[in-house]
Amino acid sequence: MSDTAERKMQFLFALRSKGVTDKRVLTAMEKVDRGDFVPGGLFADRAYEDMPLPIACGQTISQPSVVGLMTQALNVQPRDKVLEVGTGSGYQAAILSQLARRVYTVERHRRLVQEAQRSFDRLGLTNVMAMLSDGSRGLPEQAPFDRILVTAAAEDPPGPLLAQLREGGIMVVPVGQSDAVQSLIKVTRTPDGFEYDELRPVRFVPLVEGLGQE
Ligand code: SAH
Repeated sequence: MSDTAERKMQFLFALRSKGVTDKRVLTAMEKVDRGDFVPGGLFADRAYEDMPLPIACGQTISQPSVVGLMTQALNVQPRDKVLEVGTGSGYQAAILSQLARRVYTVERHRRLVQEAQRSFDRLGLTNVMAMLSDGSRGLPEQAPFDRILVTAAAEDPPGPLLAQLREGGIMVVPVGQSDAVQSLIKVTRTPDGFEYDELRPVRFVPLVEGLGQE
C-alpha cells in the first residue's frame, strides 16, 4: 500500500475510534481530502493526523474527529440548505457539500473566504459558496436554513441564528468563554420553541463580531 493510502486508512480508523460511525459522514470524509485544505509548509504532512492545524489569519482548521462528530450531530439530509459560520480553510464546508443540497459558508476574514472559494472551484464543488460576512448575524437573505453549523465559540447561541433556523431544523454550536472549556450544543427547533442537548466539551476559537481588519 502507498504511504498516502495507508495514512488515509489510519485517518478513517481514528475517526471511527473517536465515535464517528455514521456511514454517510465517513464516506464524505473519505472523499474530501484534508490535504487540499491544509496550507503547504510546516504542517502539510500532518493533514491526516487527528489534530487541529494553523491556517492563515491566526485561525485553525479543526481536528478531524471533531469535524466528524459535529457533522454527525447535525444529521444533514440530502435536500437540506445549510449555513456554516466560520469558513476557515473550507474543509468542514466541503464535507457538508457532500451531504446537503446547498451550503453557504460565511467568514469574517476576506483572505480565508477567497482561499476557500478557490479550493471549492478547483475541486469542482459547485453547491457550496463562501461569503464575506459577520456570521453572528446569520445570512438573512438565504434564511431559513434546515441546518446551521457554527465552528467558532459563542457565549450563547446567537439570536439571529436561532431565528434563521427552520422548524424541525438543527443547529450545532460550541458555547462558552473562549479561553475556558466550551460545550458543544445541539439546538433543535420544535413547533413550540427550542430544545437544547449538551454533547461534549470542545475548544474553538471565539466567534468575533464584525469583519476582520486586513
Ligand atoms: N470550519 C473551519 C474552521 C473554523 S475556525 C474549517 O473547516 O477549517 C473558526 C473560523 O470562524 C475562523 O476562520 C474565524 O475567522 C471565523 N469567525 C469567527 N467569528 C466569525 C464571525 N462573526 N463571522 C464569520 N466567521 C467568523
